[in-house]
Amino acid sequence: MLFDDPEFKETIASVLVPVAVPVAYTYKVPAGQSVVPGTIVKVPLGPREVVGAVWDVEPDAAINPKKLKTISRIYDTTPPLDDDLRRFVDWVANWTLGAPGMVLRMVLRSEEALEPEAPVPGVRRIEGAEPDRLTSARRRVLETMEDGFAWTKSGLAHAAGVSLSVIDGLLQQNVLETVSLPASPPPPKPQIDFAPKPLTAAQQAAAEGLKENFDKGGSVALIDGVTGSGKTEVYFEAIAEALRRDRQALVLLPEIALTEQFLRRFEQRFGVYPAEWHSEITPKKRARVWRGVASGDVRVVIGARSSLFLPFKELGLIIVDEEHDAAFKQDDRVPYSARDMAVVRGHLSGFPVILASATPSVESHVNADLGRYALYELPERASGAALPDLQEIDMRTDGPERGRWLAPALVHAIKDTFASGDQSLLFLNRRGYAPLTLCRTCGHRFQCAHCSAWLVEHRFQKKLVCHHCGHFEPVPDACPSCQSKDSLVACGPGVERIAEEVSDLFPQARTLILSSDLPGGPERLKREMKIVEEGGADIVIGTQLVAKGHNFPKMKLVGVIDADLGLAHGDPRAAEKTFQLLAQVTGRAGRVTGGGKGFLQTYNADHPVIRALLSSNKNAFYLAEIEARRVAGLPPFGRLAAVVVSGPDKTFAEGFARALVRAAPHDEAVTLLGPAEAALAMVRGRYRYRLLAMAPRQFDLQGYLRNWLASGPKPSKGLRVQVDIDPQHFL
Ligand code: ADP
Ligand code: ZN
Ligand code: ZN
Repeated sequence: MLFDDPEFKETIASVLVPVAVPVAYTYKVPAGQSVVPGTIVKVPLGPREVVGAVWDVEPDAAINPKKLKTISRIYDTTPPLDDDLRRFVDWVANWTLGAPGMVLRMVLRSEEALEPEAPVPGVRRIEGAEPDRLTSARRRVLETMEDGFAWTKSGLAHAAGVSLSVIDGLLQQNVLETVSLPASPPPPKPQIDFAPKPLTAAQQAAAEGLKENFDKGGSVALIDGVTGSGKTEVYFEAIAEALRRDRQALVLLPEIALTEQFLRRFEQRFGVYPAEWHSEITPKKRARVWRGVASGDVRVVIGARSSLFLPFKELGLIIVDEEHDAAFKQDDRVPYSARDMAVVRGHLSGFPVILASATPSVESHVNADLGRYALYELPERASGAALPDLQEIDMRTDGPERGRWLAPALVHAIKDTFASGDQSLLFLNRRGYAPLTLCRTCGHRFQCAHCSAWLVEHRFQKKLVCHHCGHFEPVPDACPSCQSKDSLVACGPGVERIAEEVSDLFPQARTLILSSDLPGGPERLKREMKIVEEGGADIVIGTQLVAKGHNFPKMKLVGVIDADLGLAHGDPRAAEKTFQLLAQVTGRAGRVTGGGKGFLQTYNADHPVIRALLSSNKNAFYLAEIEARRVAGLPPFGRLAAVVVSGPDKTFAEGFARALVRAAPHDEAVTLLGPAEAALAMVRGRYRYRLLAMAPRQFDLQGYLRNWLASGPKPSKGLRVQVDIDPQHFL
């Protein structure tokens, strides 16, 4: 080992840099300084300087020392990345076939965090100094400062109820002086016993079990509880236990728009807000959380999947809430599943991981069946409220008239719900006004110039938008193909169109669209979620956002506009995903008071997924789905990896994909499918071909792929080969 040799230690080190190369690079350590594995450093890389970390691999001692570049900076105010985190980075890289540097990059996401926080300018009273004139404003300032402490200028102005100019005046007269205040104090710690909720017997049993799991090393528990069963309260008790053991805790949530309600609930239980980590927080806050996590000042983080890579000082628990959610899978750069990698992180560090869902993934279900995961079931709602009563509406016989989307039975139910002062939710997983626009005269269809996808009309924004690359164009007055005026027609509904129909039918009702693409971003969504929560809307029209764990106490009716939408995909998980989504969304109804109703509009009333939902027979669905997967050798009984070849030239990309398949080493365990043109055949001007590798569960699929890609043809001319282990999306 390198670091055993005192001479080496002083001179060279391996540094993992945040780029897609397979190995760490060797650098000189500046004279008189030293590094250890995990030390965060800045190094020259080509024309740039990048932040990386010293890695525990042998540096290349064969390189001419004159050619080695020197580490340009050692961040010694930040603790080195610990062993567990480095092993985790290596593990994720190895599993995903990604470059370790690209995984490390997810750890070092906040360069600002590596600098100590800048002190804040403040003011302090100079002892004995008095102003020339004592106005009442000045007196208030001096009275406020009687405790002798330093203040920020704005804080002081606010507390004394004066304008900033009064304080500037006192500074000028040398009554106050400028000082440096230490940057923000560490956040207050959660209080373990602040306000625990009395738990139901089922919750109590689960909470007790979870506490015991802390003594079992890297164990995994699955909380499988119906919507509204109080899973959150149960795992809050596990967080309390982690805190009692002086460990930090991390809660992963799939959708940041939800966190507002979640943060408030956490505060009610623990007396303080937890730290947040996701793409919407400011760089300054982000840096503070990163530092606080590393120093141990921050005890609990609520975050998106990327928080899995934070440098926790003493992490002792990870909770993955809504563990079935596809948002835990990252598809670009390093494609990884945050749920699965959370289990790995717990395993490597020997602490418990809790997965929670009302509709667990088939994978987790099987793991619980086989006893690999401890299972805690909560079959009833905490409030005692009954689960919603679900009915189908057969659109073949009972559908609406042409050009309308709400069947009479659903309209009737909305009317009743509105009349009794309750809320309705109409669910359609399609943003915008209409998924397709065409010309009535010549049949021209509006397609994205860069993707094989229709442009989606967004009527509020008066735009046609591509949902795959973001390209948009104004809705034209005339058809670009035949120049006919007023000839464009919208085909099919999106949420905006449903909202239009609702306004026609119920002009007195307060309607609200919850969709991620409306102007105002997450802030608006949080506000609107709160409005719905407080009963400030009568009819809500929403995309899948509303399906995610949110608690709307006044919601009584849920209408699914198109229950078949997810079933048609050529995706092995289509049935599972549709079941989960619809069970979750209908589960919004009557969560607290009961009496909830759900309607599924469908053209496939006999489909097993629809039947399972209607009969509320969750177990029957899982049994059938698990059996089907077993027979087909699909996950979790078999392993899948997708290989996507993409490039700017269609023929070349296809030719390369074919050559790649021809070069695949023969192995009886592996079945290769494809290449096939991807369902999304072009994205952002790149043509895409998919290959799928299938193998039995025990097979080392990564080893096979690594060997194949190393020995096969190398991509050139703008081609890209992206490997996705255990793919969740098949587009
Ligand atoms: P889940 O996460 O399982 O969907 P939640 O934890 O959000 O369920 O709980 C659903 C509702 O029931 C929330 O309003 C919550 O405050 C309430 N609740 C949960 N547990 C209890 C309890 N033991 N006593 C009273 N109310 C509870
Ligand atoms: Zn036309
Ligand atoms: Zn596009």
